[in-house]
Amino acid sequence: MLAATAVCTGVTSVLGCADGNTQEKTKDATNHANQDGGQDAPRNESEKAPETSAGAIERLSKGNARFVSGKLRHPHSATEWRKRLVGGQAPFATIVGCSDSRVPPELLFDQGFGDLFVIRVAGNVIDTDVVGSIEYGVDHLNTKLVVVMGHEGCGAVTAALQADADLEKEPNEIRSLVSKIKPATKDVDRELPFEKQLNISVAENVRNSVKQLKAVADLALAEKESRTEIIGCVYEIKTGHVRMLDV
Ligand SMILES: [Zn+2]
Repeated sequence: MLAATAVCTGVTSVLGCADGNTQEKTKDATNHANQDGGQDAPRNESEKAPETSAGAIERLSKGNARFVSGKLRHPHSATEWRKRLVGGQAPFATIVGCSDSRVPPELLFDQGFGDLFVIRVAGNVIDTDVVGSIEYGVDHLNTKLVVVMGHEGCGAVTAALQADADLEKEPNEIRSLVSKIKPATKDVDRELPFEKQLNISVAENVRNSVKQLKAVADLALAEKESRTEIIGCVYEIKTGHVRMLDV
């Protein structure tokens, strides 16, 4: 479904619309998105807000292809567009990514304000609050896609590959976070070059996060009802490509 070199999964955005008018405002923002008209708004039919997970994947894939080629459009970034979003948001995808400063989803998918509902936490680990944010994105903002995105050279996964003794001096909170990533490293062949060990662990960590999300009753129901789709991907820092994973 995705181009061979592009795309990933996940998407969530800000908890705006917390004043009880969520539905109305979301609808309003959707209308704005469909009307476009901002100076940098999409101008052709194919770039209207996606209505399916496949459409969301295609839009992310195309955006990542622009990023890789250097032909960025920086859509939905003009002042006029930003003003249109004052009344609400209607992001089309929720993205669960790492906090790493080199992997901002809006940039590597060439998206703009109001397009992505983004949750970032070191190692793209899943916990209750992350799930709550994703559920908000799916149930209240109607994001058609949830993408868990790991990345090459992830420091959090690197830490998880280290021996427990090496982490003894770290604060409890960091050790707790790393412990959530450890399962992704347990079957890795330690005879491999470290970069390979890391790449394998990064991918496995994404798969683990996707499995965790698919096991959440509310999100499983959303997938069953085809309201959203949960996928996983890895961002290749060297090339800029986002690579889809089989999960
Ligand atoms: Zn990372």
